[in-house]
Amino acid sequence: MDIFRAMAEHGHEQLIFNYDKTSGLRMVIALHDTTLGPGLGGMRNWRYGSEDEAIEDALRLSRGMTYKNAFAGIDFGGSKCVIYNDPEEKTDLLLRAAGRFVEILGGRIYTGEDVGLTPADVEVMARTTRYLVGRPHKSGDPSKAAALGTYSSIRACLQHVYGSGDPKGRHIAIQGAGNVGSDLARRLVADGAEVTICDLRGERAKAAAEETGAVVVPSEEIYDVACDVFSPCALGLILNPQTLGRLKAKIVCGSANNQLATPEMADALRAQGILYAPDFIVNGGGIVNIADEFEDGGYQRERAFQRVAQIGERLLAVFRRAEAEGVATNVAAERIAEDHIAAVAQQQRNFVPRRG
Ligand code: NAD
Repeated sequence: MDIFRAMAEHGHEQLIFNYDKTSGLRMVIALHDTTLGPGLGGMRNWRYGSEDEAIEDALRLSRGMTYKNAFAGIDFGGSKCVIYNDPEEKTDLLLRAAGRFVEILGGRIYTGEDVGLTPADVEVMARTTRYLVGRPHKSGDPSKAAALGTYSSIRACLQHVYGSGDPKGRHIAIQGAGNVGSDLARRLVADGAEVTICDLRGERAKAAAEETGAVVVPSEEIYDVACDVFSPCALGLILNPQTLGRLKAKIVCGSANNQLATPEMADALRAQGILYAPDFIVNGGGIVNIADEFEDGGYQRERAFQRVAQIGERLLAVFRRAEAEGVATNVAAERIAEDHIAAVAQQQRNFVPRRG
């Protein structure tokens, strides 16, 4: 892999390779853009097929965090830590080493739990670094905030398409009855919406249905449900040429990361007359909630949730820009984030102190 070319392609600032000889830790830390503030992004531990795959993931995910954080309106840049060791072989020594490597960056990045790490793992890391977010005594589990942001986004989508954001009488099909999907179902049913839900783990879908009154369908049938909103809250890459032709919804709006198999899928959805709410905006509730840890007086759930509930309004601005410029919603969202970063960079240039 030509690392500098890969960094230059998307304007990454730093790629840091960390190795600990005692535990065998191999960790890549990617910093994409720190115009808005220190890098903020989770730490992932995955069984990558190769070193290149791990590096590519760190580059891709850190860039995604720049956009997500910028769009969420928080003063953080984009970074990501990727551990290139088998998650099954994770040890306390390895986690302590990972924490130490975060610590020596002195606050250039903040990180927390992501795929392959548990809250308990983060507590082990906390013995060697201060630069952790989302710990239980601070903002804690972000899934309720992610569900609220998704709910606010669905309301905005309904507003844009039907002229009213009220979910009452609308039909929403939710893919995934996990932490986010179940909470979302609860909110929508309480509003009087009709909710269909599925989960590969049947018992989870059943539990969500029993609690909320949603209707369960087999997972493979969720794309075919005739509904107003299809809400992916399970896995990424589910909007692909195979699934797009099956969708009967007017709106796609869910919390799952990286829903589009390729960016062109957003154009295909647009051509089909389906409104696509970019995932990195819809699921920004988690990060907005975490950023509240840095506000005066420390984390306050009520203040954080008030901000999360505003995600829908930001989404409406994206839809307006997409229409005005004749582009897909993901392109409009990226333009808004880029404009924000450029404006802040310009402001910072104006404040460069003179020598002497
Ligand atoms: P979760 O692991 O609690 O739930 C996901 C559920 O999806 C699981 O029950 C799993 O069995 C199910 N699933 C997986 N593949 C499926 C398929 N093909 N069909 C049907 N069900 C399937 O995860 P979560 O916390 O609810 O998060 C849901 C999504 O939102 C994930 O993509 C996650 O990355 C994203 N997200 C979550 C948060 C958060 O704070 N929890 C924040 C931002 C983004």
